[in-house]
Amino acid sequence: MRVAVIGDVHSNAAAFQAVIDDFGTIDEVWCLGDLVGYGPAPNECIDLLRQMRYLCVAGNHDWAAVERISTRDFNPDAATAAQWTATQLTQDNRRFLEGLPLTLISGQFTLAHGSPRDPIWEYVLRGRDAAASFRYFDTSFCFVGHTHVPAVFGEPRAPSPAPPRYGEAFPLGHLRMIINPGSVGQPRDGFPEARYIRLDTDKLTIEYRHVPYDISRTQQEMENAGLPEMLIWRLEYGQ
Ligand code: ZN
Repeated sequence: MRVAVIGDVHSNAAAFQAVIDDFGTIDEVWCLGDLVGYGPAPNECIDLLRQMRYLCVAGNHDWAAVERISTRDFNPDAATAAQWTATQLTQDNRRFLEGLPLTLISGQFTLAHGSPRDPIWEYVLRGRDAAASFRYFDTSFCFVGHTHVPAVFGEPRAPSPAPPRYGEAFPLGHLRMIINPGSVGQPRDGFPEARYIRLDTDKLTIEYRHVPYDISRTQQEMENAGLPEMLIWRLEYGQ
């Protein structure tokens, strides 16, 4: 099966459409949560996902938008965007977000937003975060998002994330791994292009992709919606 693994779309429909156009032939999309929050087009992004064959888990921003968690632990800009998102959602899309599960398993792969131990909140940024996470899933591989930083951690030592190689499929091998595709809608590793992974579950290969998109369109839509300046600015810098 050919799968596009995406995460942290964050209501950025221009970025989402650009990666969809880059998917090629796929059988399913696996979404690692945070479809909404920060950006200007929550309904459009949910609708785009629902038009495809998908699996999707919940992220902290998805739950904040439907008040399943409080925005008390969000920074002020994120909280403002979450509250704005809540006012925009259609009934149907609100129900969709409310119904998202915390984790999903497909074959040898577990999907979680933050970490398999604490899917809503925990960040797997460093080797020691990853090392602590391997006990909390049973499959060979776990895809996570939340940090917005592409990374591959192998068990057992997971000393530091391996930097992804873009545009080249590489074999997953026999180590258990925690893999982060990076963010579609708000990259934070210093480069503004949208990121995702193409996975082939038969050949067991992944390919990191980075895709340019019309950042100024998203920024203009955010300005029109009155979203915080800092959230608009950061898209340009991948911060
Ligand atoms: Zn996120």
